[in-house]
Amino acid sequence: MSRLQADDEEFTSYQEAYYRVQAGIAGELKMQRTLADYHFVGPYKIFYNFECINEKGFSHEIDALIITTRFLLVVEVKQISGTLFYKPAFHEFARQTEEGLLENFSNPFDQAYRHKLFLSRLLSKWRIQLPVLFIVVNANIRTKLDSSLDGSPIIHLSGLPKFLEKLYQNYAETKLDLVELERKLMAIACRLPISKNVQRDRIRNGVLCKKCEFHHVMYYYHGLWICPRCGEKSKKALFLALHQYRVLIGDHITNRELREFVGINCKAVTSKLLKRLNFEQFGKGRGVYYLIPEDVLSQDNR
Ligand SMILES: [Zn+2]
Repeated sequence: MSRLQADDEEFTSYQEAYYRVQAGIAGELKMQRTLADYHFVGPYKIFYNFECINEKGFSHEIDALIITTRFLLVVEVKQISGTLFYKPAFHEFARQTEEGLLENFSNPFDQAYRHKLFLSRLLSKWRIQLPVLFIVVNANIRTKLDSSLDGSPIIHLSGLPKFLEKLYQNYAETKLDLVELERKLMAIACRLPISKNVQRDRIRNGVLCKKCEFHHVMYYYHGLWICPRCGEKSKKALFLALHQYRVLIGDHITNRELREFVGINCKAVTSKLLKRLNFEQFGKGRGVYYLIPEDVLSQDNR
């Protein structure tokens, strides 16, 4: 959001998407706290944000995958406000906002069921016998679940411990080698790439001032990034800028591209900066470029 011009024609739609993602993350964190507080009966393993590509090349993003020696549970977390409605015969999932607006949502039961089918296929391929189940967890306590959801696999987050207790009662111990399954799942897990569909010329240049909520571009002076508005001085501000460059534009950067992005006119100053950053260097002569490392954000601790 901070890298998009405020007058960009898609600003509002990106902002709405950003708020949705933020709400999703808040819901996932609440679930993580609830599960951290829960006493699992035997050995268990939880994968949060489990991502992988299936045999047909389609992606799976699972909010939580809980493995025990009795069952494997797919948890889909929702943080939707308002009142939720369901028409099972049509697989239609809708919410009514507090203002009374009724809108359809992608059906979380079908999403979770798709993950369940995929995992069941995987387990049978690996000759592992373990029941695969799913549940949709609503993490927003203010959300009302309409009675049309009766009998559907959805609960409020506070009910998750009780739900797990029931699974322990209903499913018998298996001979699962949990470590082996964990290893197999780790081997297929991957981080799905972030879609870079914003053209370069729509992305704002500059090292942006965090204190000013990224509205102002900082300038470089004697090894420090300085905000002309609030006077904030920072050595670290560059790392966030480079992280954003890596995510939005790419992990290769040349001296010229860096100069343009951070707003330094002098090539020698940028060369010195790059030397200090100690990024891996590739190519020769005019073709020299640098690789922005994945962990560039954590370099500000050095
Ligand atoms: Zn500032």
